[in-house]
Amino acid sequence: MKVLLRLLPYIRQHLWTFVFGITGLLVARIFEALIPQFVKIGIDSVAAGQVSLKLQQVTLDQAAAALTYPALAICACVLAQMLVTIVSRILIRRIGMYAAFDARNRVYAHLQRQGPVFYSQFSIGDLMARAINDISLVREFIAGTLRMTSVLIFTAVVSLSFMFALSVKLSLAVILPLPVITLVAYLYSKRIYARSHRVQEGFSSLSTFVQENLNGIRTVQAMAQEQDEINRFSAVNADFAEKNRLLFVANSQLSALMPTLAAAATLIIIGYGSQLVNSGEISLGTLAAFFSYLGLLLWPVREAGSLVTQWQRGASGTARLFEVLDYEPEIRDNSKPSGPALTGKITVKNLYYQYANKSVYALENINFEVQAGETIAILGRVGSGKSTLLRLFVRLLDPSRGEVLLDDHPIQDFALTRLREQVCMVLQDPFLFADSLGENIAYDDPERDLDSIWQSADAAALRDTIERFPDGLQTVLGERGVTLSGGQKQRTALARGLIRMTPLLILDDCFSAVDTETEEHILSGLKAMRQGLTTMLVSHRVSTARHADRIIVLEEGRIRETGTHEELLALGGLYAELEKAQSIKGHLLNHLETAAAGDSSS
Ligand code: ADP
Ligand code: MG
Repeated sequence: MKVLLRLLPYIRQHLWTFVFGITGLLVARIFEALIPQFVKIGIDSVAAGQVSLKLQQVTLDQAAAALTYPALAICACVLAQMLVTIVSRILIRRIGMYAAFDARNRVYAHLQRQGPVFYSQFSIGDLMARAINDISLVREFIAGTLRMTSVLIFTAVVSLSFMFALSVKLSLAVILPLPVITLVAYLYSKRIYARSHRVQEGFSSLSTFVQENLNGIRTVQAMAQEQDEINRFSAVNADFAEKNRLLFVANSQLSALMPTLAAAATLIIIGYGSQLVNSGEISLGTLAAFFSYLGLLLWPVREAGSLVTQWQRGASGTARLFEVLDYEPEIRDNSKPSGPALTGKITVKNLYYQYANKSVYALENINFEVQAGETIAILGRVGSGKSTLLRLFVRLLDPSRGEVLLDDHPIQDFALTRLREQVCMVLQDPFLFADSLGENIAYDDPERDLDSIWQSADAAALRDTIERFPDGLQTVLGERGVTLSGGQKQRTALARGLIRMTPLLILDDCFSAVDTETEEHILSGLKAMRQGLTTMLVSHRVSTARHADRIIVLEEGRIRETGTHEELLALGGLYAELEKAQSIKGHLLNHLETAAAGDSSS
């Protein structure tokens, strides 16, 4: 419940709107509570006329005369109550809407800064659920629950004040059942909180499931797993439904109990109230007014149950929202807005890296230096730690021990945006947006001219591919670039990286789906294009590595050997071994490729 206090800053921004809204709600309740007063005046004046005129019965005209003024007053109260309620409701709804708006922006900005650890902890589906579902719970809490709670409290307080003003004795008798009602509401609130939290978790699971499944729909269909997936979904869905049912049961029990307890109050007014009228302690009008007030009071009492649920839902939504917002990005950004421009010199000193969930180091005692303008290849088998090493240069990870220096400055000294402006990393498994090819290549700056787009497309051997599409650069890619083959995707991502001409370019195994011939072609173009700029090529293929000025061979997280292609071949170590194995495989593959005479573009 305390977590709800954290919504205060969101409300404080609109403090005056809030104050006006809440005051309006109070004023409306006062108008409403005035109505029974006029009922009392009306009834008492009719009764008084009866007594003073010593009549057995009051005529219709006399009654009408006595009632005109109270009736008009009642109409005025109803009207005023309605108008004020509408205005304050709009004011408070607006605050809820703005709070949700702010929260959505905040969450999105926060997600942009998170690293891999965060994304391994929260799945995309879960994050979507929080950003959509839990934020709307927060909005509902402010716009609905807070408003309703104020209305209920005001109704209770205002009605009770008027009741006490009329008759203290009868009022005390009427509120007798109140402590019981409070206790019941409290006991239920705990149960409902737990169940409502489980419902929201269930929604996250459901959303995660659908998200993952749809992302992998091609795999699902290719492996003919549709029925299995449908069954698995149905299980997750049933679980969600069951959690909803449990919440609903608790809710219904509470809403059923509340009116029962409230009915006790009606009996008290009838029994004890008529006694008081008989003994002359209260007037007939007062008794009538008490029934009206009880009508007003019963409403809050009846609603208290569902309100408890709403508070709990609001609290659990808020808690889930702040769970994301409180997550400190594991990579701390430097507060300094910039850093020096890089020449591309890199120093890695005594570097160790260990993933949190692993018992062994992914990188151990890594030392090397790269001069500005060099092309370095990092070669190693799958799982040898190449990608891990690269992530340290763009600070997707920070070293467990040791350091990375860029131009002799510790990498942590650069502001993240400044760093990533100058160090560009192209991933093995590229992500393309569902935009046009041109927009994907010029992703970092849509203002780029066509010349530079074509130039980088050429460098990535992508011109033929683009020209083969009728729409050329305007060809719109499907979600995640599904309309391209694996190799075409890799080359598009490569063009996107090349276009930036950063002092440091890092290519993470991004020729793995490109055939060796195209790869040769790209690498020779790359060398010319990046003359004087540092490039780090990472690959498990010797064919990629051989063009580099220097090659670093990684094995199980350690540097096994370094040197040029010729030096390493002469050394006869791991590199030579890989070269031999891959050239045989290469010949075989070439053979197959020619035989199949397949699509040379992929
Ligand atoms: P490479 O890129 O050379 O194929 P990686 O750097 O991806 O190798 O992986 C090196 C080692 O670190 C592997 O043993 C891998 O299982 C482990 N690893 C990679 N990413 C993670 C991660 N996010 N969490 C835990 N372990 C990881
Ligand atoms: Mg890798």
